[in-house]
Amino acid sequence: MDERLKRESMKLKFDELKKIYGDNVYKDEILSKYSWFNLGGPSEIFFRPNSVAQLSSFLREVKKINKKITILGAGSNTLIRDSGVNGVTIKLGSKFSFLNLINDDTIHAGAATLDKNISNFARDNSLSNFEFLSCIPGSLGGGIVMNSGCYKNEISKILVSVEVIDSNGKIFEIEKNKINFFYRGCDLPDNLIILSAKLKGFKLDKSKIENKQNEFINKKKDSQPSQIKTCGSTFKNTKNFKAWELIKKSNCDKMFVGEAKISPKHCNFFVNEGNAKASEIEQLINKTKEKVFEKTGINLELEIKIIGER
Ligand SMILES: Cc1cc2nc3c(=O)[nH]c(=O)nc-3n(C[C@H](O)[C@H](O)[C@H](O)COP(=O)(O)OP(=O)(O)OC[C@H]3O[C@@H](n4cnc5c(N)ncnc54)[C@H](O)[C@@H]3O)c2cc1C
Repeated sequence: MDERLKRESMKLKFDELKKIYGDNVYKDEILSKYSWFNLGGPSEIFFRPNSVAQLSSFLREVKKINKKITILGAGSNTLIRDSGVNGVTIKLGSKFSFLNLINDDTIHAGAATLDKNISNFARDNSLSNFEFLSCIPGSLGGGIVMNSGCYKNEISKILVSVEVIDSNGKIFEIEKNKINFFYRGCDLPDNLIILSAKLKGFKLDKSKIENKQNEFINKKKDSQPSQIKTCGSTFKNTKNFKAWELIKKSNCDKMFVGEAKISPKHCNFFVNEGNAKASEIEQLINKTKEKVFEKTGINLELEIKIIGER
């Protein structure tokens, strides 16, 4: 199909979705504000559902027009390319951010709920196990997909089950033991959107929980930069080495490309100093990977996700 026909057919498809979903669907939404790097081009179609029923209906419509779907959480682990994202980008709206105590030790939380809010809700209900979430800046959905964690904790250890929706709009629950979790990932299929999850803790004195939260937050403040445009650790640690050790050993820690830099406080944190392009962050990532491989023979694996068109 030539470019003009493609554009016209795309416009028709968008107009159909706009008629049904009104203000919840946008065209060419600039994604930079949805990523912690503050980078990224437009999304061909951007959708913020305000209910599960609306999301389910939307997924069925999208299936008819055969568009690729990308899910964004809080964008604290995602570099979005400058050319933007083709197809449909879905970001769960505020109705997907909720917290309920369903019995003495179990919380039911919406996938868009921020980790920090889960941690504070658990503390307010005298539930321990959630303290580490106070220093991870993402949402619950992203945390489960990434199996996020710190200081020997990770989300899979407190997870009971997840509620998901598939590309046909069908909703079901998956028990934790049906999912294979590993360091910074899990095998949940890409076509599933997490809607909510149940998480389990244990009863503990509120003040003890608060102390633990503060201990983690202070540890992070001492070792990692804050108030910068970053997505945290860029590469995964290897079995035997921390990624930052390999980066330092390979003399990459002072490298930069334009305004894409490496944090002097933690050299696995890559930073948009203000006016970097996503392509510059990606070039810096690739240069670092190459140099570390040349120097150590180790192939660093990305922890952050890179999405969008090249
Ligand atoms: C300063 C800083 C410190 C950090 N420290 C840590 C740390 O200590 N430990 C750690 O593990 N991480 C850390 N991170 C990385 C990041 O916060 C985590 O990976 C976080 O869990 C990502 O959540 P998110 O909602 O931002 O996900 P996003 O970046 O939006 O998405 C990550 C992945 O999850 C998928 N996803 C998101 N929501 C859903 C959903 N509802 N359904 C299906 N898929 C979904 C996306 O498609 C993508 O593949 C840090 C990041 C920053 C910026």
